[in-house]
Amino acid sequence: MMSDTGYENDISYARGLDEADELRGYRDRFHLPEDEQGKPYIYLCGNSLGLQPKATKDKLLQELADWQRLGVEGHFHAKNPWLPYHEFLTESMARVVGAKPIEVVVMNTLTVNLHLMMVSFYRPQGKRVKIMIEADAFPSDKYAVESQIRFHGLQSEDCLIELSARAGEVCLRADDIISQIEAAGDELALVLLGNTNYYTGQYFDMQQISAAAHAQGAFVGFDCAHGAGNVELNLHDAGCDFAVWCTYKYLNAGPGSIGAAFVHERHAHDQSIPRFEGWWGHNKETRFKMRDGFDPIPGVEAWQLSNPPILSMVSVWSSLQIFDEIGMAVLRKKSIQLTGYLEYLLNTLGENIVKMVTPVDPNKRGSQLSIQVKDADRSLFDRITDAGVIADWREPDVIRVAPTAMYNSYEDVYRFYEILKKTLADV
Ligand SMILES: *Cc1c(COP(=O)(O)O)cnc(C)c1O
Repeated sequence: MMSDTGYENDISYARGLDEADELRGYRDRFHLPEDEQGKPYIYLCGNSLGLQPKATKDKLLQELADWQRLGVEGHFHAKNPWLPYHEFLTESMARVVGAKPIEVVVMNTLTVNLHLMMVSFYRPQGKRVKIMIEADAFPSDKYAVESQIRFHGLQSEDCLIELSARAGEVCLRADDIISQIEAAGDELALVLLGNTNYYTGQYFDMQQISAAAHAQGAFVGFDCAHGAGNVELNLHDAGCDFAVWCTYKYLNAGPGSIGAAFVHERHAHDQSIPRFEGWWGHNKETRFKMRDGFDPIPGVEAWQLSNPPILSMVSVWSSLQIFDEIGMAVLRKKSIQLTGYLEYLLNTLGENIVKMVTPVDPNKRGSQLSIQVKDADRSLFDRITDAGVIADWREPDVIRVAPTAMYNSYEDVYRFYEILKKTLADV
């Protein structure tokens, strides 16, 4: 069966795409979770927890061995000395998010970094007190924002602007975001959006939003938890003031692994910017004198507080080496085709059966498709899980499916479709 997308609804067609896939070899570089019989699950949950690169274990053992062998001397004499360890990750991470090295640091975890960034970029003053977020922002982000508002002695009722989709629509329209920013005008202190949105999978044009926020004199930041390693972010060119993200989703660095932050180069040498400070943000030449006043490292490294957890950094570095081999442009190209194939197959089930929550324009989404299945409840999702699929259920009625270009195959996508189709037929 041919369609105008060029895709075909056929397992041998899917296998043909896999054979032609220049990234097909990377699947074998990851551990795929298996059922009790040793059969791999169809893992479509890299948006929640990415899979483990096989190389990570040995790299972790290397650091344990160096600690065993060297004790404190490992800071200088480990194979990968711990003192400058975070710097080994910076350039690769900067490539993943389209930033300059001075703009990127791997540190802390996402929500912690979000707070640190708001300390610097949410400074309510006079009538400029408002933060704009999505009405369906990730709960942790909303808690962080609301607590920052209260921290300044203010109240959410007065300070929070929540962007909602129009009645009958699920995704936000770019024009509506811009007009809301303009309407908020000089009351707007900060625009903070998830990019890509964790629930709908919608990707926002960061450059347009940043320009609009700056035109009103506001700062703008993005939570790229679902963007990093998924889409080409180009944070520097987008011009936002800051961004934060985690590394356990598309970046495959393991549960609760250390996060990262971006602060635009324009703030790199600003001595007046308020910030919570600690010794790891201090000038590396004089850090161990521990006497002088705080002398910030130029760039986002100044926001570092503590000496970083090496055992957590290892897995980030291990994963970034694979991203370096492939490059985001190549990864994104496959991602668009793979997700497009999933969309095509789901559409063959009929619009009255499967409704797309995620935008249909590939430029407005990443790998993830959020779908509403007719009359679906949790039991439908559980049956799909029992049939060997690992995806994600969000109350009240959304299934999130994220084929990741690095280790998912076209056959994975096809088999998921088959299982969904069969499960629906059995109802
Ligand atoms: C995954 C995710 C988080 C998780 O925050 P942690 O601090 O890493 O636990 C926060 N915000 C968004 C948008 C996310 O997708």
